[in-house]
Amino acid sequence: MIPRYFDIHSHLNDDAFSGDIEGAITRMRAGNIWTIVVGTDAKSSQSAVQLGSFYDAVFSSIGVHPSDNKDDHFDEDYFHRLVTMPKVVAVGECGLDYSRIDARDTAEKKRQKYLFERQLEFAIKENKPLMIHCRDAHSDMQAILDAKKREHGDRLRGDIHFFTGDVETAKKYFDLDFSVSFPGVVTFTNDYDEVVRFAPVDRIMSETDCPYVAPLPHRGKRNEPFFITEIVARIAEIRGVDSREMAETLVKNALLLFGIQGGKTETPQ
Ligand SMILES: [Zn+2]
Repeated sequence: MIPRYFDIHSHLNDDAFSGDIEGAITRMRAGNIWTIVVGTDAKSSQSAVQLGSFYDAVFSSIGVHPSDNKDDHFDEDYFHRLVTMPKVVAVGECGLDYSRIDARDTAEKKRQKYLFERQLEFAIKENKPLMIHCRDAHSDMQAILDAKKREHGDRLRGDIHFFTGDVETAKKYFDLDFSVSFPGVVTFTNDYDEVVRFAPVDRIMSETDCPYVAPLPHRGKRNEPFFITEIVARIAEIRGVDSREMAETLVKNALLLFGIQGGKTETPQ
């Protein structure tokens, strides 16, 4: 069995869903939607894995977000225990976020790069794709991925989540064999239409990043995986294709990158 939609990046483990997790899951089931619940630190990674073990339609990703953390420590033993649990399909979200720091703060950039590279090496060792968060740091990110790609080849793979860069930036990620995923912003601004239209069809995915950034017509409310339907409809509209067909392709891309087949995960060795 495969779903009709795949929301590859959600935070159902966020407090915004406490008391309504069953409701959110029921609506997902009604829409035939699967999701990857993403951790941003040790605790939320653990709860992501837990949700995956409770619900068929939920997979999980584990890692440490660049800004939700003040040191550069990545507890490999702890995360190794999590990553070997069933239905854990990616490492992240991890990456670089320079949007909230001073451009001259080289110490902070160094800390983030170190933390990210630890997780990148970990993902390669565990043979998992990366779920990457990158904000205002694409050139540093691409320099790291480029160097590591030479070293590790196909074993280094992943997705740039919440992609809001331009066509040139996206192209470099595609050259590195990475995909990008589009969130709800595509429903309420035309700023990303060009990149949504330009991207090769096998290099794109859909995500809500809920509870944040709900798509139209739910803007301003709490976002949830069910709203992926609006995001996919808009991606299809921008690309000028049938929305059912678009949904199918986006699901196929997600199943392939995250090594999911018929509800089971398979890790190619
Ligand atoms: Zn996120």
